Amino acid sequence: MELYSIPTGNFKLDGGAMFGVVPKSIWNKINPADANNMCTWAMRCMLIQEGNRLVLIDNGIGNKQDAKFMGHYYLHGDDTLDLSLAKHGFHRNDITDVILTHLHFDHCGGSIEKEGDLLVPAFKNATFWSNERHWKWAVEPNAREKASFLKENILPIQESGQLKFIETHAGDFPSFIRIRQAFGHTDAMMLPQVTYKGKEVLFMADLLPSTGHIPLPYVMAYDMFPLTTLNEKKSFLTEAVENDYILFFEHDPETECCTLQITEKGIRMKEGFTLDAV
Ligand SMILES: [Zn+2]
Repeated sequence: MELYSIPTGNFKLDGGAMFGVVPKSIWNKINPADANNMCTWAMRCMLIQEGNRLVLIDNGIGNKQDAKFMGHYYLHGDDTLDLSLAKHGFHRNDITDVILTHLHFDHCGGSIEKEGDLLVPAFKNATFWSNERHWKWAVEPNAREKASFLKENILPIQESGQLKFIETHAGDFPSFIRIRQAFGHTDAMMLPQVTYKGKEVLFMADLLPSTGHIPLPYVMAYDMFPLTTLNEKKSFLTEAVENDYILFFEHDPETECCTLQITEKGIRMKEGFTLDAV
């Protein structure tokens, strides 16, 4: 098996929203804000190559949204999905499976592209993986989460016939990837896990968007059920430190991966490194 980090570019989100109840005097030292209180975050995907499968986890914000929408998120940096794939000798048409951790626009926006007036899958040869529970949650969104679930990112996937749910097509799902689910950030978010070079590697998605979110109370204001996130973080971090897991961060602006250690203050980052150093 080979794992590759696939950065798709950076965006900005309000620092207060990203750190919830943590005061700015503290979070600003972790991820300094600009004059508009916005902090830089990565949209970092992961590519897993095993046998004849080439699996992409999430795909960034994409490029089909209008200038007004994109203007809220200050896209920057030189990385794109295509450039990052090409760096490792791959093309988007080589992708056999796209796992969507959840259907927020910064995770699944690259799934669908514009072809003239049509909205078509950007991965022509891939199966898109979600789960029934999250899909239902996303297509009937509550008012608080609605701005994150964009119809144009979601419905064309189903219309393309390339969508499968892990419950109903478990036999087709790549057997070398295990899925755990979390229910605090949104309903039934999927966290892929693989065994790689003798270590467990976990794709954290928005359970732990960055190393700055490792301390327990650092829960995003975006989360639907913050106390659920708190409990999920607690049990996950305990399991991860006991078993020396490698955590892979989708949104950390600098650190791709880290291990954990127990300190006087609680569980904290031990060592940060890139995925290709594993
Ligand atoms: Zn996110």
